[in-house]
Amino acid sequence: MNIDIVTLFPEIFDNFLKTSILKRAQDENKVRVRPVNLRDYSTDKHRSVDEPPYGGGGGMVIGPQAFFHAVSALRGKDTKVVLLSPHGRLFTQKVAEELAQLKHIILLCGHYEGIDERVRQQLADDDISIGDYVLTGGETAAMVVIDAVVRLIPGVLGNELSASEESFTMGLLEYPHYTRPRDYEGFKVPEVLLSGNHGEINRWRRKEALRKTLKLRADLFESLSFNEEDLILIREVVQEELERLNL
Ligand code: SAM
Repeated sequence: MNIDIVTLFPEIFDNFLKTSILKRAQDENKVRVRPVNLRDYSTDKHRSVDEPPYGGGGGMVIGPQAFFHAVSALRGKDTKVVLLSPHGRLFTQKVAEELAQLKHIILLCGHYEGIDERVRQQLADDDISIGDYVLTGGETAAMVVIDAVVRLIPGVLGNELSASEESFTMGLLEYPHYTRPRDYEGFKVPEVLLSGNHGEINRWRRKEALRKTLKLRADLFESLSFNEEDLILIREVVQEELERLNL
């Protein structure tokens, strides 16, 4: 997969791209990520890309010209151009899975007051928001998208199970993890995880994933369907929680 990031601040990505799984994925040629300076595509003699908004108001707006030139230089035959904006569709694990199938993505990062609307209307194939809040620029949003997408590319995570069992992929939040020591200042690891009984461990993990989701993100239940075993586990969880609360 190829990812180009069109930005006014390519240097923001230096450490991000040299760290952890993202570095390994690039070293192993699973992905190529390239920050591209928007100013390199400005036709202005001072490499300026922003102008005051028509109609007045504060702030500066990044004009269409440099974005159109950048995309025209970078676009290939299998390219998806994604604008990062607080007005876009919400970025979720499903959207990350969708993007992970693509060959080439160009991420467009805005800054200041935002980007001329014609970039969204005429240039972008997709418009993604990472949440209902306003960031200073699209760069941190691009990092979130790249991080979530790259780890889904086959072979990027050492253990393929890691990605397939994670929160949201299964529709539920993931079960809790524990590691050594068995007893930390009196706080003990659940006995079942030390039992070596994989059937029991899997049942416990499924039950705790159901419990966690029910307690923290009950809204996720609406889009799930459950088998008989799950229904038994859910009833057990509800009963245990009622007892815990003395109800
Ligand atoms: N004036 C705009 C508004 O009120 O909708 C906000 C512009 S914001 C300060 C500058 C840039 O940050 C945007 O063009 C976009 O690229 C990026 N950005 C801000 N919030 C974002 C979000 N929630 N998701 C993705 N990108 C975001």
